Amino acid sequence: MKILVINCGSSSLKYQLIDSETEGVLAKGLCERIGIDGALTHQAGAHEKKTYQLSMPDHDAAVSYVLEKLCDNEVGAIASLDEIAAVGHRVVHGGEKFSSSVLIDDQVLEGIRSVSDLAPLHNPANLIGIEACSKLMPGVPQVAVFDTAFHQTMPECAYIYGVPYEYYEKYGVRRYGFHGTSHSFVSKRMAEILGRPIEDTKIIVCHLGNGSSICAVQGGKSVDTTMGFTPLAGLSMGTRSGDIDPAIIEYIADKEGKSLAEVMKVLNKSSGMLGVSGVSSDFRDLEAGMKDGNDRCRIAMELFAYQTAKFIGAYAAAMNGVDAICFTAGVGENQAAIRKMCIDRLSFLGITLDEAANAKRGEEIRISTEDSRVDVWIVPTNEELAIARETLAFVG
Ligand code: AMP
Repeated sequence: MKILVINCGSSSLKYQLIDSETEGVLAKGLCERIGIDGALTHQAGAHEKKTYQLSMPDHDAAVSYVLEKLCDNEVGAIASLDEIAAVGHRVVHGGEKFSSSVLIDDQVLEGIRSVSDLAPLHNPANLIGIEACSKLMPGVPQVAVFDTAFHQTMPECAYIYGVPYEYYEKYGVRRYGFHGTSHSFVSKRMAEILGRPIEDTKIIVCHLGNGSSICAVQGGKSVDTTMGFTPLAGLSMGTRSGDIDPAIIEYIADKEGKSLAEVMKVLNKSSGMLGVSGVSSDFRDLEAGMKDGNDRCRIAMELFAYQTAKFIGAYAAAMNGVDAICFTAGVGENQAAIRKMCIDRLSFLGITLDEAANAKRGEEIRISTEDSRVDVWIVPTNEELAIARETLAFVG
């Protein structure tokens, strides 16, 4: 069966066509600058990646170009759209309404719309993508896979904030958590590696990328995670501040003569690794800077590794133990220096780093020594495949 996976942003659309039997990628690509001018980068099988400048006034136009390329005689991967069994959509926010993936119907669309307030930049774009696909592929089942759904199992004590309770009741102010599809995928794989039923495992997943979050997964269920009401919370990230004292917001607004919206923009776009280093949000640049003696790059890297280790300690406490720790996503899979700086702080858990294994990147490998009390692994994530598997469950 062929499953089309769509990840729609406000002016972009990423896609992958996945063969559910082999779990291989038949074609993938990206539409950018939708509503401005439009460019489509597409690659199928062994064909060369190609970029087309196309007029994309809206997402309908983008989706129809994608479908056209998928069926193209020369650069396509399928003979006709009839081969697409279902479409899986990444939807950022499911609020408290959606605790698992769902087959999309009018009621589900209304449900996604009703929580759009919680993710005003993302959910409307996700809805546009779903509507464009329904229009161009009528009758093909569409499934919504939510970033927040996996975390709906968190206990109250992990998701309630210490603010007046009516803010939760009236406005849904609580921890939701994100990257759920990745945390779920990686923790399931980790349980397989351990060779134990997931119900008997305590796993900490460190999804470290440009956006980063850590998740405590007990018995296969998320019991706590670092991102919160929004993806701004938790670890300091590429450009996002992560957790700060909320009083800083008013203080900086006052000192710098900025509006609330301007301070929030600083916290989202020019804080984190970029803000601290003054150099870059990219960990490759930070590592190079640190090696060259740039002190602020060093501070940024140490801050990130320290916070990661601190949350690992906190989540070992939250679960009253930990069997395995996984590193995943761009930084987690590729940045040996960050992994080392983090793991060197975890000897209290009986962990020692296997330096040779840690020098590897992007592959599934144990990076703790054989005698470590807790297993530490690199487990590459694959959010598109996870979405395809979730989608298949409805049509398979
Ligand atoms: P992501 O958001 O998961 O795509 O991760 C992006 C981050 O991963 C960037 O900060 C990169 O520095 C880091 N990254 C990606 N590839 C590599 C690599 N080959 N070596 C080191 N860091 C990498």
